[in-house]
Amino acid sequence: MKPPAATSDERMIRLLMDLRQGGIADTRVLAAIEQVPRELFVLGSFADQAYENRALPIDAGQTISQPFIVAYMTEALNLGERMRVLEIGTGSGYQAAVLAQLCRRVYTIERYRSLLKLAEERFAKLGLHNITTKLGDGSKGWPEQAPFERIIVTAAAAGEVPPALVDQLADGGILVAPIGELRHDQRLVRLTRTGNDIKREELIAVRFVPLVEGIANDRP
Ligand code: SAH
Repeated sequence: MKPPAATSDERMIRLLMDLRQGGIADTRVLAAIEQVPRELFVLGSFADQAYENRALPIDAGQTISQPFIVAYMTEALNLGERMRVLEIGTGSGYQAAVLAQLCRRVYTIERYRSLLKLAEERFAKLGLHNITTKLGDGSKGWPEQAPFERIIVTAAAAGEVPPALVDQLADGGILVAPIGELRHDQRLVRLTRTGNDIKREELIAVRFVPLVEGIANDRP
């Protein structure tokens, strides 16, 4: 006889153990992951894999990031609860929903209208009223709302972090972004601003979809 399928609570507990074993130590980050039902952010056909520690496909050929990467980037941002955070690449909205547990407001930009609409529906369903969305080219940032205490980019720029984003980083601010041309040769980079001085650290190797300029043409 097959053992009964694990409930989503049991799967969540396993995922949190996995993240802890992977080195995620910040209990605030783990609690934020626990607050967000990832099954709402994946395609219906992948619902049974929602709590596995892996990236999954979403619409428009994009992906929802691996939970470990979401937790790692969130931890690397060292969020404070009064901060305003800019996210580039809303995608499913999962990373934004996790950030929204830990800061004052998340501003998130996506270039696909279809993805943004789905993400907005999820935020509404979960009562996440501290997320503001925008259709646009995130490489230009959100000048009307700048500066931001934290910036997270969830699509990989080929050469360097787009300069507009560095410009929109507040004094003392932290930016985390994947950098690299090839899907298999990317690294997370963390920039910390002190006045006009920018400290640059290289973190772990990652795999993100590319950061693409302009708004996508996905109007029906
Ligand atoms: N943070 C997302 C991960 C999405 S994958 C999540 O938690 O699900 C990266 C997303 O970045 C894709 O949806 C892609 O369309 C978007 N993207 C790529 N280039 C962009 C750009 N220049 N501006 C805004 N979004 C962009």
